[in-house]
Amino acid sequence: MSLFPIFVKLEGRPVLLVGAGPVGESKIGGLLSAGAVVTVVAPEATPAIQKLAAEDQVLWHRREFAPDDLSGMALAVAAVPKDIARAIYREARARGVLVNSVDDPENCDFYYPAVVNRGDLQIAISTAGHSPSLAQRIRIQLEEQFGPEYARWVEDLGAARRDLFAADMDPQARKQQLHDMVRLRPEGAQAAHGATTGMVYLVGAGPGDPELLTLKALRILGQADVVLHDDLLTPEILELIPSSARIECVGKRHNERQVTQQEINRRLCAYGAAGQTVVRLKGGDGAVFGRASEEMDALRAAGISFSIVPGVTAASGAAAAAGVSLTDRRLGSALVFLTAQRCKGNPPPNWKAVAELGGTIAIYMPGGHEGDLADQLVAAGLAADTPCFVVSSASRPDEQVVETTIGDLPGAPKPPAPAILLIGTVAGHRAPASAGHDVTAEKANKTDESH
Ligand code: SAH
Repeated sequence: MSLFPIFVKLEGRPVLLVGAGPVGESKIGGLLSAGAVVTVVAPEATPAIQKLAAEDQVLWHRREFAPDDLSGMALAVAAVPKDIARAIYREARARGVLVNSVDDPENCDFYYPAVVNRGDLQIAISTAGHSPSLAQRIRIQLEEQFGPEYARWVEDLGAARRDLFAADMDPQARKQQLHDMVRLRPEGAQAAHGATTGMVYLVGAGPGDPELLTLKALRILGQADVVLHDDLLTPEILELIPSSARIECVGKRHNERQVTQQEINRRLCAYGAAGQTVVRLKGGDGAVFGRASEEMDALRAAGISFSIVPGVTAASGAAAAAGVSLTDRRLGSALVFLTAQRCKGNPPPNWKAVAELGGTIAIYMPGGHEGDLADQLVAAGLAADTPCFVVSSASRPDEQVVETTIGDLPGAPKPPAPAILLIGTVAGHRAPASAGHDVTAEKANKTDESH
């Protein structure tokens, strides 16, 4: 027989709790916040329950259960050994009182579901006792999907709904508006009072390991109607996109049909204008060599709301892979992010200034330019024996770290893209001092060392 799911108003109603150990204690908070009038029956009670009794928040009868305790109760909870729970259940049945016996399905009329609590938005999950662990897993997934901002949003929606019902309007139009309001997400909640434009999230996905996604990125992915992603995204991350979402790869792959930046901007604006929740998903941090500002310009110009979710940039992932820090106050005070690719017409970096900085230089997209980069830096005064790491696929299963010096970089092995260079005494500073020769080793020098 299936369970009948309900949400019950307990305000002002008497509820009996038999047993006042830690398990019983864990049941009181929910009852009190629903406004129930709680009577506890137990010879002993935890200090927390004693305190509640002393503060008159619950009534505590310091004795064993007696059948008459059930009289007039709306519900009863038994947090006691099975034999006592059975007796309580039998007595309760005779009196028409519904009982929950904790962790004892046989002596239960109702179960406590796993609950996602977002203020007045409550999502309850039950497996009818078959698998509480599955219920917990689903709860965690739902918590990621429906963040704390839903609490406020549900209240706002309620207010907007009451306004609509107070207004003199066509019922069909009202119905339509009520549906339109919830197509948005909480961050766009101000639009609940009329507008129906969507929301674009510019989300950084980190260097590849799905565990390096932020919780926010994961939650927003779960809400996406459309995801536009680049080539840096790993299959493990793409798997986290709900199957209901439309997925478009807009990476600038070589030898394949290219999607221009203009076209990407156009799609972001068009989906946003159609009221969709759009995720522009990029490797690393979208605001680091990620053309984010061009997309933001286009969205601003089109009047589409957007929100930026930062990610772990490749330099951070690479430093972790190489087992080094990006900065070290004992050795330098600078960290520069450079790219070996330049937009036409942009001047080259001031190599002399870069060489003199004395910190760490992270060079993105170095592929094919290693010789030239090394020549420029050495000509600008950087010592040829300055340590250099080439880190490929940082944080991914095929991660590789090549340790060399800037002088030897042109002849060093070139692991496959995506790869990044970390250059500088800081980057090379590892204690105890490492071998100091070129090594190519998959997963070499990983973080199981202590640095
Ligand atoms: N927005 C990204 C960078 C985009 S540019 C970020 O913040 O990381 C693309 C370059 O990033 C690649 O050519 C490579 O240099 C670097 N990169 C991205 N992911 C990487 C990874 N997992 N390992 C090494 N380098 C990576």
